[in-house]
Amino acid sequence: MNGKDLEKELLWETPHIAKAAPAQREEAQSFCEGYKKFLNEGKTERECVKTAAAMLKAAGYQEFDRNRTYQAGDKIYWNNRGKALAAATIGSLSLEEGFRLNAAHIDSPRLDLKPNPLFEKNEIAYLKPHYYGGIRKYQWSTVPLAMHGVVVRQDGEVIEVSIGEKEGEPQFCITDLLPHLAAEHNGRKLGDGIKGEELNIIIGSIPFVGEDDETLKTPVKLMAMKLLNEKYGMTEKDFTRAELEMVPAYKAVDIGLDRSLVGAYGQDDRVCAYTALRAEIEAKSPAHTTLTVLADKEEVGSSGNTGLNSDFLLHIMADLAENMGAHFHTVLRHSICLSSDVNAAYDPTFASVYEERNACYINRGCVLTKYTGARGKSGTNDASAETMAQVIRIMDENGVYWQTGELGAVDVGGGGTIAQFVASMDVDVVDLGVPILSMHAPFELASKLDVYNTYRAFCAFYR
Ligand code: MN
Ligand code: MN
Repeated sequence: MNGKDLEKELLWETPHIAKAAPAQREEAQSFCEGYKKFLNEGKTERECVKTAAAMLKAAGYQEFDRNRTYQAGDKIYWNNRGKALAAATIGSLSLEEGFRLNAAHIDSPRLDLKPNPLFEKNEIAYLKPHYYGGIRKYQWSTVPLAMHGVVVRQDGEVIEVSIGEKEGEPQFCITDLLPHLAAEHNGRKLGDGIKGEELNIIIGSIPFVGEDDETLKTPVKLMAMKLLNEKYGMTEKDFTRAELEMVPAYKAVDIGLDRSLVGAYGQDDRVCAYTALRAEIEAKSPAHTTLTVLADKEEVGSSGNTGLNSDFLLHIMADLAENMGAHFHTVLRHSICLSSDVNAAYDPTFASVYEERNACYINRGCVLTKYTGARGKSGTNDASAETMAQVIRIMDENGVYWQTGELGAVDVGGGGTIAQFVASMDVDVVDLGVPILSMHAPFELASKLDVYNTYRAFCAFYR
């Protein structure tokens, strides 16, 4: 017997998609134009919900109404406090056959403003943030920042804030030390390069000059507050009634001469949110009822009532089950969920933290992650062989390029996703998503071919 043939028959390797399916290069390029637009429109969970809701409404989705009776093909959605969202297409099978559930998250690591953030030091006005999610703090200095969020004013009006995104708008920045004076600073450990309380964001340096300027203690702070007041009608006290998020101000771009990668802030996990949303909208007459969830708070452990460690998703499923006369526990037991989230792509520059055989690679397709967690699989949903088999069968039958991947080598670190919270609802679940380079950095990279195949996997899952 020929060894090459035997190798083909018995061994398994994942190809570079551009070699195996050259036609997909063009398809992936064009798919990612919409993806980049989505990234630019949604830099916070609230903005993603707004963009997604507009896409759903344009596609004929209506807000869930428990007094209506739903039929196969109907498209509905739920908006959870403007910060999380779910959308469904009713299937032709009974709901007791289970949901096809796909859950991604739309919150990303960032710098949230503290409740009392504004101060002046040596005639510079600053904002104090408290970082949100896992960041390497030193990466966030000398990056142009934009301010996004909402302020609820004394009069009860909710004001949407966005400064630094439109052409010509001012932006904000955290300083770093010049190399000439960094001899001692260079001795710091990288993790302490910029410490939490050194993340001071410059927002102004011109003092308010009034007729009584001699008596003012913080005229630069006052000037900054005056400018915010002119724009949004807010006062300093209103910061306590606000959710203001500082995020990188730059737009999504193509990276590489071949334009093979997307470079942008917040691809974890808006890449899965966008691909899932597109697949949901395109599901016309699915057999199983689809349910696409865009969740908040994943980066801080899914806690809070817009995160998946709350009952909001359970209540959505229960409401629909009741509406359709289905036995809820049966619905849950028969459901299968993709916890759609990114994984760490193998980075040759930092090879030692990966285990080559079980890392995921850019341009080899979406990554099926059986388990996450840390140490001895602590804190993970370890998907069953049967669940893996079901998802692999769907992808293989539809010619989706996929690979398997672990989050780093054993004992190097770890992490978690929303999979464990879905599993605790008595639903089968496995992680699937896009390999990312520089994950959680202010600027992350993803392969367009991988983004496209993740979308293809989600379409196949809903078919
Ligand atoms: Mn994620
Ligand atoms: Mn993350």
